[in-house]
Amino acid sequence: MDDILTLDGRHVWHPYAAVGAPVHQVVRAEGVRLTLADGRELIDGMSSWWAAIHGYNHPRLNQAVHDQLRDMAHVMFGGLTHEPAVRLARRLAAMTGLDRVFLADSGSVSVEVAIKMAMQYTGRSRLMTVRGGYHGDTFGAMAVCDPVNGMHHLFNGALPGHVFAGLPPRDLDEAYLRELEDTFLRHRDELAAVIVEPVVQGAGGMRFYHPAYLRWLRELTEEHGVLLIADEIATGFGRTGELFGCDHAGIRPDIMCVGKALTGGYLTLAATLCADRVAEGIGVLMHGPTYMGNPLAAAVANASLDLLEERPWREEVARIEAALREGLAPAVRHAKDVRVLGAIGVIEKHEPVDVPRVQKTAMDLGVWLRPFGRLIYTMPPYAVTGAELERITEAMARAAE
Ligand code: PMP
Repeated sequence: MDDILTLDGRHVWHPYAAVGAPVHQVVRAEGVRLTLADGRELIDGMSSWWAAIHGYNHPRLNQAVHDQLRDMAHVMFGGLTHEPAVRLARRLAAMTGLDRVFLADSGSVSVEVAIKMAMQYTGRSRLMTVRGGYHGDTFGAMAVCDPVNGMHHLFNGALPGHVFAGLPPRDLDEAYLRELEDTFLRHRDELAAVIVEPVVQGAGGMRFYHPAYLRWLRELTEEHGVLLIADEIATGFGRTGELFGCDHAGIRPDIMCVGKALTGGYLTLAATLCADRVAEGIGVLMHGPTYMGNPLAAAVANASLDLLEERPWREEVARIEAALREGLAPAVRHAKDVRVLGAIGVIEKHEPVDVPRVQKTAMDLGVWLRPFGRLIYTMPPYAVTGAELERITEAMARAAE
């Protein structure tokens, strides 16, 4: 039999890649370390795209999957229910103040469901968002991603035209508040919802913006009967230093999407939550994935939320934030911007980065990074040690040179 990398090159698609793009074979993941087939051990700076907040191969998460497997791996959710899903829904409701929970099978699907909820509830079909956003790769979600930053321009012709306000700035800017208001008021009668990633825009550019804009959107939407959708798929569960990005602004959306870290990086699961009044206004929601409410995923999500409740994540994230600030500061000499919020550290270069070169520099220092565009960034697992953070920031700074 051919080796795995040869077969991969022959048969496998990887995300956002041409066939045959170079990849590295992982044979084991433990704590914050990935072990490659050639024996190299890498500190994971990515948490598998925001998900593995507790680290890999965690005994409690493993146990939760094992225990659930004894009872059932999966049953359909149409007309049937089970304890792991019900317990999960109840605690997500308690965490967010949104009482009705639709369990979806990925972040993008949860965004599709959020959009459907808003359309069914209001009878309107246009959405407003801001530039620089990212909400997933399915068609409804793509239509509210930044229209020009590159990921989806191939499909622009097939996407409905939604309403875009400009990029939200980092600092408080009265002129931008007026821009949001003007854009919103011009379109309010046709809007079903405003959808944004609270405070941190992830895959659309790893930008942070001032919470005042979120508060303003909440006020405007509330006053004019438009729903506010918060996409907390990347920001949820402590990553930004608050439990949810919305907490920076002290607001509650009408609809919220969570995913990624929901299962601690174990299984694909997301949820769309909404206020009771929205659910009551909708009646029958027209969506129902085959693997909806998957018991294994729900069980490991419950265990991951247990761990989150037990661990001093606020202190951990604050410690990571301080270490990222210190470790990344010198990189500013070679960058357009260096920014840190919670357990997220970003070096933005003036020019697009040479991805294979950055990855090689980082891997030579024993660190796994996945840069894109002009961005070299990290969002490590919360259990990362000070020494590991030093390695990550050194690798990022070295790669930025
Ligand atoms: N929304 C945001 C904010 C995200 O970061 C992502 C994933 N990068 C998604 C939606 C889509 O989630 P998924 O990849 O699970 O479909």
